[in-house]
Amino acid sequence: MQLTLLGTGCPKVDHNRFGPSNLVSSLKTLILIDCGSGVTQRLDKLNVPLSKIDALFLTHLHSDHVVDLYQLIISSWHSYRTKPWKIYGPLGTKKFVNKIMDAWKDERNLRIKYEQRESIDAFNLKVFEFAKYGKVKIRDIDVEYFQVDHKPVKFAYGFNFFNKNKKLTISGDTKPCENLMKYAQLSDVLLHEVFIEDEIKTTTKMRSQKTIHNVKEYHTTSSMVGKVGKISRCKKLVLTHFVPTKFNEQKLKKIVKKDFGKFPVVGKDLLKIKI
Ligand SMILES: [Zn+2]
Ligand SMILES: [Zn+2]
Repeated sequence: MQLTLLGTGCPKVDHNRFGPSNLVSSLKTLILIDCGSGVTQRLDKLNVPLSKIDALFLTHLHSDHVVDLYQLIISSWHSYRTKPWKIYGPLGTKKFVNKIMDAWKDERNLRIKYEQRESIDAFNLKVFEFAKYGKVKIRDIDVEYFQVDHKPVKFAYGFNFFNKNKKLTISGDTKPCENLMKYAQLSDVLLHEVFIEDEIKTTTKMRSQKTIHNVKEYHTTSSMVGKVGKISRCKKLVLTHFVPTKFNEQKLKKIVKKDFGKFPVVGKDLLKIKI
């Protein structure tokens, strides 16, 4: 199995860290997790054909994780996709997907009529909404989903991926979460989000103390993420979803090592990790 980090940023625009998105793959299977800003450019850079992606899993419906959904769909059609999309996400995903598709309906119909392509199956979106916990098999990868804590977001999920006795855990967006630590036990790789403390300064009223406090509240801080990795007993801890996107890397690694016992991998866009 392989994990490829497609976007390691957050809502803030950063040329080196695109919006949150990851690819989990085996020789047979391609699973996309989230579709943040720039996801199609990243997939194209890696020569991953949009026509071949087997499923899209959404951690939650925050805009930074889903903003390029329509771009992904339309661009897959332009990349000769002739099969429906399977989209797995939290409660509310059906409504969200329908609204997005509806917004572009007139434009899409005009295109379909004008471009005269053989198939429109790429626009056939099969949406499956998560229960509290469950398992889904996508070809040779078993996916397990479980709830994490990203309140006030009501439904946020983390995932486990299993293939050939290996286990990968993806935290999604979460504050330090017991359920995550329970399901991440002994993972070969834990990909975890992080909010880096002391790197964001208050500027104007558009980024007040309260703003920083509240954003920090529903993420996992740099002084907590190593503890999460330690309690999870994961073999490798990879960090992503950096808030802010620019920070002192060495300092972050040292802080996390104190708790985790080993240096974490500081994720970068397009980084591939074999599992
Ligand atoms: Zn979020
Ligand atoms: Zn996010």
